Amino acid sequence: MLMGSCLQCGSVTLMLLVTVITVDARTLAASDTGAASDIAAASDTEAASDTGAAGDTEAASDTRATSDTAAASDTGAASDTEQLPTNNYQYLDGHQVWRVEEEEGNTTILQQLHVAGVLDVLDHSGPSRTIRVPPESLSEVNYNLQNAGVHYLVLIHDLATYLRDHEVIKLRRGNIGQTCTSSSCPAPLTDAYMTFEQIEWYLRHLATHPRVEVTSIGKSVEGRNIWLVHIMPATTCRGGRSAAVMPRHHQRQKHYRAAKARSIWLEAGLHAREWISVSVALQLIHNMVRECSVGRAVHVYVVPMANPDGYVYTWTHQRMWRKNRRRNHGSNCDGVDLNRNWDFQFGVGASSSPCSEIYQGPSSFSEPETQSLRDAMHQVNSVSKLMLVLALHSYGQLLLYPFGHTTEPAPHTPAMRRLGNIFAQHAKVGSGTVYDVMNSATGLYFSSGSTDDWAKGVLNTKFVYTLELRNKVTFLLNADQIFPTGQEVWDGLRAMIEALTPEKLSE
Ligand SMILES: [Zn+2]
Repeated sequence: MLMGSCLQCGSVTLMLLVTVITVDARTLAASDTGAASDIAAASDTEAASDTGAAGDTEAASDTRATSDTAAASDTGAASDTEQLPTNNYQYLDGHQVWRVEEEEGNTTILQQLHVAGVLDVLDHSGPSRTIRVPPESLSEVNYNLQNAGVHYLVLIHDLATYLRDHEVIKLRRGNIGQTCTSSSCPAPLTDAYMTFEQIEWYLRHLATHPRVEVTSIGKSVEGRNIWLVHIMPATTCRGGRSAAVMPRHHQRQKHYRAAKARSIWLEAGLHAREWISVSVALQLIHNMVRECSVGRAVHVYVVPMANPDGYVYTWTHQRMWRKNRRRNHGSNCDGVDLNRNWDFQFGVGASSSPCSEIYQGPSSFSEPETQSLRDAMHQVNSVSKLMLVLALHSYGQLLLYPFGHTTEPAPHTPAMRRLGNIFAQHAKVGSGTVYDVMNSATGLYFSSGSTDDWAKGVLNTKFVYTLELRNKVTFLLNADQIFPTGQEVWDGLRAMIEALTPEKLSE
């Protein structure tokens, strides 16, 4: 069974989907021939999918995921985890981690070195900055900081060794479960980070839920699908569980034509190394599907892995990779920072050097990942207006609202702060975790070309945030932090959604 999707609004038909997901992952034969912008070709693509033509890569991934799952269940609980392979640490041999005290002028120097691609700023919160310095830059950074009278402390002398000793992440094999029904759906892993293959495996199961559609909005630089999960409003709730009461095609017509339809957009994984954002997004999806009473009149759209190439690369080559996998012309340095590539104040707070971690790209929207996200957000917004955009990142425990390029208040700043405080209050109740709510440029540093600024500046979405998840120390969050982080974000997000959807919208 193949599932397509069509966003209908009056006489306008918007084909958001190019790729479809099969109900049964073991017979997956999804194929994709173009980007989401190929709207006119959407029907051709669906036809192609019907023929069962499969991309070799996808077929191979699927086979691996399937056999892993089978192996895990065959061998029992004792062997359903394995040590994370450590070859993604090799690149970090000799890299050091320094803590630089926040003093007059040092932010400027760090920013200059960051823009030049000499170092990587890891920590954006608190009264100091934590930076990663590659071995070839140690003397240059030392010289510049000393010249400026800036003090620093070497926290880690060899990051690769440190990670091999400390980052014990258990990789659980994909024992995901069965097909979804209206009242239950397999859960994503919350005590282990999921590989790219496991995530796709999970999404295929999720796509069988009657309230869920999973579609590809385009392809990455290396040709991986960028998946969009659409959770439709529930028409009834049974014991807190979701229940679809109409066949899917009737349901779709009703919801897309609903004049009062509103939607929420969540993006995760735009920065490759921020694994916790992907895991939290999957947990939020699961909770929203399970607890249909939350946001009953709201369409929820989630892109759980916005930078799939980068995500894979962090597992296979370089754990600290941040950008996408673009091969930059005329440079030995790869990758574009996808959160500096959006066309709003492009280039103001970013780098034009391909070697920088915050390289903006040769032009705005030069990357297929940001193009796909932009087109999908435009299409969703035109059908059911986006009232909340939330981009999940790590780390720092900050809820940041736009703008990033200026400290001048963005439209609806007081309202964004109020709703942000609702998030922070509710996130803290169960876990005690404190999320500071602040303006992006004031609380972090100047930046531009990001998802949140674009949503505010171009889409004019009222409530827009970047959420920097746990913790305040490192990207390398232990897997036992996945569930509590997801839970506190769910508590906060649920309160936000409820604040945004009064009874009159709940029908
Ligand atoms: Zn990030």
